Amino acid sequence: MKKPDIFRAWGRILGGYPPMLSIEVTRECPLRCPGCYAYEPEHLGGLGPLRTLADYKGQALIDGVLALARRYRPLHISIVGGDPLVRFREMEVLLPLLSEMGIEVQFVTSAFRQIPPEWAKIKDLHFVVSIDGLQPDHDIRRAPATYERILQNIKGHSITVHCTITRQMTKKEKYFEQFLSFWSSQPEVNKVWFSLFTPQVGDELEEILMPQDREDVLKEITRLRPSFPKLYLPDAVMAGYRKPPATPEECIFARLTLSITADLKGRISPCQFGGNPDCSQCGCIASAGLKAIGDFNLLGVLPVKKIFFASDRIGKTAASMLRDSG
Ligand code: SF4
Ligand code: SF4
Repeated sequence: MKKPDIFRAWGRILGGYPPMLSIEVTRECPLRCPGCYAYEPEHLGGLGPLRTLADYKGQALIDGVLALARRYRPLHISIVGGDPLVRFREMEVLLPLLSEMGIEVQFVTSAFRQIPPEWAKIKDLHFVVSIDGLQPDHDIRRAPATYERILQNIKGHSITVHCTITRQMTKKEKYFEQFLSFWSSQPEVNKVWFSLFTPQVGDELEEILMPQDREDVLKEITRLRPSFPKLYLPDAVMAGYRKPPATPEECIFARLTLSITADLKGRISPCQFGGNPDCSQCGCIASAGLKAIGDFNLLGVLPVKKIFFASDRIGKTAASMLRDSG
């Protein structure tokens, strides 16, 4: 979110609407990534598990997503899964329609299959491709979305590479330098993002970074910034990683994003991770970036976060009063 967007988002909040939607358009995914939270029994709380949800296809999926877009009129939608490329035929119809509605769309995929070349012409459509580490590690974790396939499947596009850093990666010399060197040199890559693996409270996974790993990796990627201009890592995002929101209530991203389940009915809470995420170890780039915006002092007086949260309460009350009187 850019600073001018703060005012647009504020308008949406005062109207009682979330400025951002994240929609799991399908529960299906051909990958089985270790540490994937989407299929964990806790992800959807009482609404899940994910595999038991209805999964829309065809016109029902297109109509269902359009109905959500018309109802909430967000500034931004993240299309996620599962993997949304599983439903590429539906997306072929849906994505241009969302673009015509003036909504910015972020399409998050593993690129296990080709991103249709004609999608490159759709305005305000952005592709984020998850690539977790160097080829030998990534190809084991994320087959069938291997390096070889991704390089084929992104041809003709401009994409953001999104790497979720796990503890295993922090143990190898020059790992991130090699990663940045490889992906920065690909003409299709416009930006590289790093997130840090975010566990659930009580998890004991080998992916979890210890506090010292976290500090070391943040130092390392900061060191690499000047050499790799495609690496998007403003100081403000780094500050967000060093001091994540204490709770979901304090998290601007969680408060301003409505995350919707694959049956297009339920809400994933408290944020896109679902379940009981460990905010103290959050490494989500969106949460870190929005925390930075939230800490930005509007007119040098009040942190934006305070204004947003107060407006959120006012907007929801006003919207429910209007609904009740309608
Ligand atoms: S691609 Fe995403 S949804 Fe699919 S298994 Fe991997 S982490 Fe889970
Ligand atoms: S995005 Fe991170 S900080 Fe925000 S609620 Fe989720 S885990 Fe907590």
